Amino acid sequence: MKAELEQLINLQKTDLDIKRLESELNKIPERRASIEQEFEERAASFRLLETRHDEATSLRAAREAELALLREQVVRADRNLMKSQNETEYTAAIREADAARKHIATLETQIIEGMETIEKAEAELAEHAPEVERLRVELDANIKAFEKEVESQTKQLAHARKLHEQLTVTLPKQTATLYTRIASRIRNGQALAEARNNSCTACLMRLRPQTMSEVRRGDDLIICENCGRILYYVPVEEAPPPSSASAK
Ligand SMILES: [Zn+2]
Repeated sequence: MKAELEQLINLQKTDLDIKRLESELNKIPERRASIEQEFEERAASFRLLETRHDEATSLRAAREAELALLREQVVRADRNLMKSQNETEYTAAIREADAARKHIATLETQIIEGMETIEKAEAELAEHAPEVERLRVELDANIKAFEKEVESQTKQLAHARKLHEQLTVTLPKQTATLYTRIASRIRNGQALAEARNNSCTACLMRLRPQTMSEVRRGDDLIICENCGRILYYVPVEEAPPPSSASAK
């Protein structure tokens, strides 16, 4: 029986490994996202600079497009001015050209001011680029390490499942069935509990001295009356005789 109990302990350890690995592998997307999120957080100030730069650049493009339209408007107004047949047409053309020229002047000033913003952002981006590059290299390394870990966990899981099979088929059928029944009933799948200091370490119920000595003997499978787990006993390591310590 002792050997059977040892095998059950191994089986439980294997099954807990399987559970842990399955849960780790199920969390792959979250684990990867958290690595990427850390990078994003650390690169946030750089991202802000990039955004500022992009916004300033697109604002400039919009202003230049508007400028082109206004220049066409000036040309058109000047042409109308030349062709004007009366006072009303003449005044309207003058007004249109004036308004467009004023708007052009404003836009040109805004574009020059915008250039300063763009140049400043470019300088800051260039200054921070090596730091971000370092972070990116770090991110790549972290992702690689993560993928390696996933690969290793996948292998470990395959190995644990195989071990589970081996341990299950070599157990007496009744014992295997009992184990599976208890494991499926208990939430964390822990079907075994160590009996220590006259208590079940899983549910903390005190064990009767009779039960404790039966568990210690290990001739039969003893079930905790309270939580229904299979109890096992780990002999306390005997302290080395004091002479060996003092001899040194
Ligand atoms: Zn118990």
